[in-house]
Amino acid sequence: MTARIIDGKAIAAELRARVAGEVARVKRESGLLPGLAVVLVGNDPASEVYVRNKHRETQAAGMASFEHKLPQDVAQSDLLTLIDRLNRDPAVHGILVQLPLPQHLNTETIINAIDPAKDVDGLHPHNAGRLAGGLTALSPCTPLGCIILTKSVHPSLEGMNAIVIGRSNLVGRPLLQLLLKENATVTIAHSRSRDLAKLSAQADLVYAAVGKPEMVRGSWIKPGATVIDVGINRLPGEGGKMRLVGDVAFAEAREVAGAITPVPGGVGQMTVACLLVNTLRAACAIAGLPKPAV
Ligand code: NAP
Repeated sequence: MTARIIDGKAIAAELRARVAGEVARVKRESGLLPGLAVVLVGNDPASEVYVRNKHRETQAAGMASFEHKLPQDVAQSDLLTLIDRLNRDPAVHGILVQLPLPQHLNTETIINAIDPAKDVDGLHPHNAGRLAGGLTALSPCTPLGCIILTKSVHPSLEGMNAIVIGRSNLVGRPLLQLLLKENATVTIAHSRSRDLAKLSAQADLVYAAVGKPEMVRGSWIKPGATVIDVGINRLPGEGGKMRLVGDVAFAEAREVAGAITPVPGGVGQMTVACLLVNTLRAACAIAGLPKPAV
């Protein structure tokens, strides 16, 4: 069997178009212009690319985009002052502090300073706690994207066996909660788990969020399973260029799986699209408007 490739690029484009349609409707009907503020500290090249993409896509969706670039050695108190200002700015409905932050800054303190209503990255303990409690919450964007990609193959995940490999606050843990919300049966694995190959082979849905290039082998995949590869690993390629690979050995896994996401062109495409969704939802909630249709 050769797996169907899940086209993250096309699904993300369709989602962005739906967000843009809803932004236009909300603007027309209530005069609300959703706004996203992104804070970048320092000059990490990968972070600069991510922030540029977020800025471009936010504007393309018809929303206001505010970029705040701070020097690498910014004092924590100055960053907290900026966040406080953004918390109180009525034109800003979403605040995202690009991670990772330089070592001298305390990431937890910074995230905790963001107003939970504007926490479009879904990392504030208020939102993480609500999600864990099965309540409405702003959820992290990458796991949201994973669910949308999975549902493009299986409209209902009810009763399916899922394994999430990786338990980070950014991906694995919120993905576990979102899968539970979809009534899947979930195993969450990590670096201390025993016999990952055996655990994976029982799963209808395999999510790899590990950060280890091609760790999940084709032999770990149950025939016909759906494989969602969150990993983004940069390896040296031909001619001194870098190439991107996921956490799944794609060539092997696609021979066994029923459907699989490529890297690039899979989950990565969904993260920014889901950030736009979260910003629109946050704006509507703050303005007391009904939940948008996206
Ligand atoms: P992370 O914070 O480093 O977490 C990695 C997780 O993998 C940890 O829970 C760790 O277990 C587990 N792990 C490490 N080695 C393992 C092993 N040998 N066997 C089983 N589990 C193992 O990483 P992350 O932020 O979740 O990111 C994971 C990957 O997704 C990275 O490649 C990252 O670049 C990518 N990513 C992509 C997007 C996107 O938009 N596509 C967004 C975010 C992240 P312990 O908890 O036991 O240490």
